[in-house]
Amino acid sequence: MPRAKTPRLWLTHGYSYRVRDGYVEILGGFRLRIIGWDMRYDAYPNGDAILLFKDGKFILGISKRVLKPAKYIPRGILAVDINERQIVIGNGKIEYRFETAVRRALHYKQLAEGLQKKYSSPKYSAWLRRRGIRDRIRYFHKKARNIVEDWAKKTSHKIASLAKQHLYAVAREDLTNLVESLRKLPKEHRVSLLILSYRRLEQWIDWQCEKNGVPLIVVEPRGTSTTCPMCSSKLIENGYRRLRCSRCGFEADRDTVAVLNIEKRALAQMWGSLTPLNAPQMTDVSPNR
Ligand SMILES: [Zn+2]
Repeated sequence: MPRAKTPRLWLTHGYSYRVRDGYVEILGGFRLRIIGWDMRYDAYPNGDAILLFKDGKFILGISKRVLKPAKYIPRGILAVDINERQIVIGNGKIEYRFETAVRRALHYKQLAEGLQKKYSSPKYSAWLRRRGIRDRIRYFHKKARNIVEDWAKKTSHKIASLAKQHLYAVAREDLTNLVESLRKLPKEHRVSLLILSYRRLEQWIDWQCEKNGVPLIVVEPRGTSTTCPMCSSKLIENGYRRLRCSRCGFEADRDTVAVLNIEKRALAQMWGSLTPLNAPQMTDVSPNR
């Protein structure tokens, strides 16, 4: 059954709400005093709004219409590869690695689970009704979600800023199929956090790029961590997370391989069949072409 977790009200601009003299006036004669707001978008006209009641406070979210910044012509690619442990961004020249938030968030999921288990035994049946424990469990779940959200926001901001600074286009894999296959796994906290991380990161990267005028390229993820970025043959395992190409001798960490392949695919999408100078040399392309 659908359930309204937070009471909320859609407000049409000009008809159902008005902001005046430090108050929000709502159709029906309600007035709410404004305590504070984000002033960065004051110059833009108000659109429709949502009024919600949360943690004892009314929050009015007003939509604003802001012009999209023009996208620059990229001078290269900043590829983004993500796995459970870390996110790797880079290209043939640079590489940065950050930890994901999965492990940190999982800690809070486990705390919630611990409490749930402890108080679900028949011994504690009376405790279940106690609000304090329910609130505590809810708090841990929320904390875990907030950690992931915060990480996605900050990481995507770093990515977009770095790309803008070097005039790179951001290239990310299309994670739709990966998320779909994760959904088929048994429902455990680790998997649900992974799904949340991948989805939120995708959304935040796309939004940060849009907001900062950074060109974005989404590439097909198939085989990005098993194909040789130099000669396109299949790589073989060579120790923990290391891969080697038996044809051309290329050897690298699995994540570096993915980054190089994403870069290569993005370049191919951008320039079609043309091979740019800084792309890894491909043996099947004649240099005179
Ligand atoms: Zn190779």
